[in-house]
Amino acid sequence: MSLLSADLPSCLPIPSGPSLRRLVRQVAIRHGDHVILVGGDAPVVVQSMTNTDTADAIGTAIQIKELARAGSELVRITVNNAEAAAAVPAIREQLDRMGVNVPLVGDFHYNGHTLLNDYPDCARALSKYRINPGNVGQGAKRDTQFAQMIEAACKYDKPVRIGVNWGSLDQALLARIMDENAKRDVPWAAQAVMYEALVTSAVENALRAEELGLARDKIILSCKVSGVQDLIAVYRELANRCDYPLHLGLTEAGMGSKGIVASTAALSVLLQEGIGDTIRISLTPEPGGDRTREVIVGQEILQTMGLRKFTPMVIACPGCGRTTSTTFQSLADSIQTYLRDQMPVWKNDYPGVEAMNVAVMGCIVNGPGESRHANIGISLPGTGETPAAPVFVDGEKTVTLRGERISEEFQAIVLDYVQSHYGKTTPVA
Ligand code: SF4
Repeated sequence: MSLLSADLPSCLPIPSGPSLRRLVRQVAIRHGDHVILVGGDAPVVVQSMTNTDTADAIGTAIQIKELARAGSELVRITVNNAEAAAAVPAIREQLDRMGVNVPLVGDFHYNGHTLLNDYPDCARALSKYRINPGNVGQGAKRDTQFAQMIEAACKYDKPVRIGVNWGSLDQALLARIMDENAKRDVPWAAQAVMYEALVTSAVENALRAEELGLARDKIILSCKVSGVQDLIAVYRELANRCDYPLHLGLTEAGMGSKGIVASTAALSVLLQEGIGDTIRISLTPEPGGDRTREVIVGQEILQTMGLRKFTPMVIACPGCGRTTSTTFQSLADSIQTYLRDQMPVWKNDYPGVEAMNVAVMGCIVNGPGESRHANIGISLPGTGETPAAPVFVDGEKTVTLRGERISEEFQAIVLDYVQSHYGKTTPVA
């Protein structure tokens, strides 16, 4: 039978993109006049977490500034002891002096109720509290200490994330769910019981927070696990059972490519289904590595899925035996770095530039064609080809670069394109 049949549709379906976002309440996270909205019709928010000692106010403020400059829209800091809590107002002041208005989220475990009570300036300086219901205390103390943290959130008018974690699940709740499971005619598998415990912990604690007086639009939920399939299953169920905004993240994702791939695999499935209102990529940095990597990966997941635009994308071929020089690899890397470095200024001066595409291709096989599809493209010479690099602007060949300064000259062409196509905004008098 021929593959070409009259029964086939006349054209292939065009992907409609991610499903409509799940309808959830919107939570506002404020620092002064600066507001980050999570949920509702707001774009999916990228956030990050520091790994400095919070008690080191200067070091922490510097890392927060770097994360914010990379595009982190919220930054979480651990508030693990009295020294950290005492440093939070100084961190906030230092950031304000540097003109960094990113809202700060305080991560509390075990002693959060005490710290929020004993350090009111810390409670005020933070824009949101993260509470892990598995780490707020045992037995009767647990309820009291959870209530004290929610009361602090009400008192200071702060939203909270009720963040359940696979590694610190409330053991009393898990025991209750296991008991209930044992009474079933056909008990669930252990994995299903664990999922149920995670989701129940998040939802029950959110309802408890509401009973204690926290407004419904002050609550974000998360249920973090470290397995991709587990995360997808848990969040699908969580999304079914509530209309709170959801914070997505694969906890303990790992290092390097494994951490990036695992996070991308898990988050992409959920985001494609319209689940997820804010994301954090929990990468373990290489020793001495750059913490901002987690922000860039989060942005790239959202941008490559077509959910948001943050920075111009560089389309580059992988290279092969047709291009044995490293020139095109260096150019692809330098232009990507250049574009990202400019964005803190360009996003204000040249609105729309984040949608620009730049192609850097290694030889004549696909180079000119791919370059023509980009806003700006360059096709470098492959092995044995004439040592010339044609540049295409909006599909038309405009110039051919040669010699040692191709990188600098191409960068100048990109800058000229940005300035002429996106137009500098003029300040309103
Ligand atoms: S564009 Fe040329 S160098 Fe790049 S992968 Fe294709 S054939 Fe190889």
